[in-house]
Amino acid sequence: MGKVIAIDGPSGAGKSTIAKLIARELGFDYLDTGALYRAVAFALRKVDIDIKDDDKKIMDLLLKVNISFNNGRVFLNGRDISSEIRSREIDYYSSVFSTKKIVRDFLLTIQRKLATINNIVVEGRDTTTVAFPDAWKKIYLDASPDERAKRRYLQFKDKAIYATMDEAKREVIERDRRDSNRDIAPLKKAEDAFFIDSSNMSVEQAKEEILRFIKT
Ligand code: C5P
Repeated sequence: MGKVIAIDGPSGAGKSTIAKLIARELGFDYLDTGALYRAVAFALRKVDIDIKDDDKKIMDLLLKVNISFNNGRVFLNGRDISSEIRSREIDYYSSVFSTKKIVRDFLLTIQRKLATINNIVVEGRDTTTVAFPDAWKKIYLDASPDERAKRRYLQFKDKAIYATMDEAKREVIERDRRDSNRDIAPLKKAEDAFFIDSSNMSVEQAKEEILRFIKT
């Protein structure tokens, strides 16, 4: 296995933006594990599977799909679904389905396989605690709820997705609550992770701070 730099944190903390920049700077691969959870939710919703459906129904579908991640893009059965998985509906369903053990086990295998060859920057909710507990460097990236809601709102706007600032804030808080309180692999700071609060930092500042930590 190559070197793994793992970054966890709540939604809107800036993980994806910063992880991509760090990967580019260090010449590492990049893996957005949230995109994999989103791809699963997208595949399940496409055939109307809901959270109340049993594990067998979910597994039958998962056995039929091929989910892959390459060059910052996520593919479902070879089709690039990177844009479609960024909807508010998939925000919700990815967080709901990610509470299921069957989904997490399925994606754990994919994540670990993707990290076997090259050095990689991986980001998500449990990459420092469960997926890659022996990562070379661990980072927990946070920001205040107001700042994260603002970033999420701007992302929606950028993608022409309609949402008010209040809705963005409510959804960010609700998703974090679910991600932090679930039984399996909840979002939490690993004891040995470097903590950084990016609320009052530019992307460039947060990136530099993390690079400084990585080089120590
Ligand atoms: O990072 P992103 O917001 O795209 O992730 C979507 C959802 O996927 C999260 O709200 C979380 O429920 C789930 N997720 C997870 N574990 C990860 C990455 C994402 O449970 N490692």
